[in-house]
Order: sequence, then C-alpha cells, then structure tokens
Amino acid sequence: MSKRFTVMIIPEEGEKIRRIKVRRGLVSFALVGLMLFIGTFSFFVYSHLNSQFGKSELVRLRQVNSQQRHDLQRLTANVELMRKDLLSLAETEARVRQLADFESSPKAVPVAIGGIPEGSSAENVDSIQQELNQLQLAIELRRQSQEEVRNYLNDQVSLSRATPNGWPTKGWITSYFGMRQIPNGTGRRIHEGLDIAANTGTPVYATADGVVARVEYSRSYGKTVVVDHGYGYRTLYAHNSKNTVKRGARVRRGDKLAEVGNTGISTGPHVHYEVQLNGVPIDPRKSL
Ligand SMILES: [Zn+2]
Repeated sequence: MSKRFTVMIIPEEGEKIRRIKVRRGLVSFALVGLMLFIGTFSFFVYSHLNSQFGKSELVRLRQVNSQQRHDLQRLTANVELMRKDLLSLAETEARVRQLADFESSPKAVPVAIGGIPEGSSAENVDSIQQELNQLQLAIELRRQSQEEVRNYLNDQVSLSRATPNGWPTKGWITSYFGMRQIPNGTGRRIHEGLDIAANTGTPVYATADGVVARVEYSRSYGKTVVVDHGYGYRTLYAHNSKNTVKRGARVRRGDKLAEVGNTGISTGPHVHYEVQLNGVPIDPRKSL
C-alpha cells in the first residue's frame, strides 16, 4: 500500500488538472488534530453555556426564594390580622350578650381559641396552615355562637312587638281597671279594662303586633275587635262605631283596627280597652 495520497483538483473546462501528493501520515495527523480541536471546542462551548445557564438559573431561583419568603411573611401577617379581627368580633359579641342580658348561655364560645402566642411569627407553610385551620374552627364556632345570640334577640324582639304597649286611641281615661259601682246601683263588679273617651270616628289602633282573632258585635260591648298577639297576650277594643279590619288579618302595633263609637251598653263615645294575659284581664295602665 502506498504511503502517499494523490489529491486531484479538477477545475472547470479549459484548465489543467492539478495533482498534489500528500503523505498518508500527515493526513492521519491532520484528521486526528481536527477531531481533537472540534472535541475541545465543543467541550468549552458546552461548559461555558452550561455555567451561564447555571448562573442565570441560580439568580432566578434566588429571586423566587426571596419572593416566596416575602409572600410567607405577608401571609403570616394576614393570619395575625385575621386572628385579631376574630378576637375583636368575639369581644363585640360578648358586649352584645351582656347588653342583651344573655351571658349565661352554656354554649357560649370562649373569646380566644388556640392561636399562636402574641408576637411570634410562623415562618413555614405548615405552621401557617395550622394557624389557618385553627382560625377556620374558631370562625365556625363564632358563627354558631352569633347565630344563637341572633335567635335569642329575634325572640326578644318578637316578644316585645307582641307585648301590648301604648294607647289604643287619643283620648282621656274615664274609667280605670278594677272594682267599680254599676251605674244602675245594683252593686259593684270588676271593670276588666280601661275606658278611654274620644270623639266618635277617632281611629283605634292595635297596641301590639298580632292577628285579628274576632270582629264581632255583642249586646254589652257593641262592635268589638279582639287581637291575638301570641305569648299569651290578647287585646280587646269595644264600643266602636265601625270595625275596619277582618278576622285573620295580620296587624302591626299602630295599625288602625276600628273607629271610636258608642255601640253596646255605653254612656258616651269611648274605647273599652282590655288586655288579657293567658285569658286573665290585667291592668292596661301599666303598659300605656
Ligand atoms: Zn269599659
């Protein structure tokens, strides 16, 4: 086998073909050198790019880390704010309970539940999550507790609206509740209401919320309206010239029921106003 190569350079037409003789060893040497060069160059390019990428990745990760730490601190601060808000809600509720005279409920939820000590800061996700769980529980208990207070207050408001209060008409008292002489002189009997004199046609108003239980005419009371207020309360308005409600109507305190008159056994236009508690007439003057 020859130790040389012949490289022929064949140009376009019209020119001489050139021959170059090259030693075989030189070609191998050049090829090996070229491969080494390519390999080394590739390696440097690769490691340079890699370190550049590594640097930028490190910078990015540092930024992410710093941002996350910042976020965690903000979350911790928010959790702390929530805890304080919840405490203030609990305190407000305690005051409402006190005002409503509703402190001694066995279901009352304590003001502080769990929580991290004042001033400490949760630095990791687990402790924040734990804190959030506690807050969630505390909020749920608070909600139940406030619902209880609300129900109690609603009951109180209903009772207050159903309790007869105020005058049924604008007038003046001509006869009080209690024993009195019967006009024909045959003895004494209890007067079960209050007589309030007023001009015929003066409006007669409901003294509490309720439902019209009776609209009727009787020989002694004349035209009469009876309102049932629940909680054992009933009111009766008698001697009216005209009843202006129907049986079953829902009425509010202050709604017009009738007009003052002189029907039944009566010596002049007035309202006979009666308040009954559990069927027993009580003195309406206490609630005027
Ligand atoms: Zn009377």
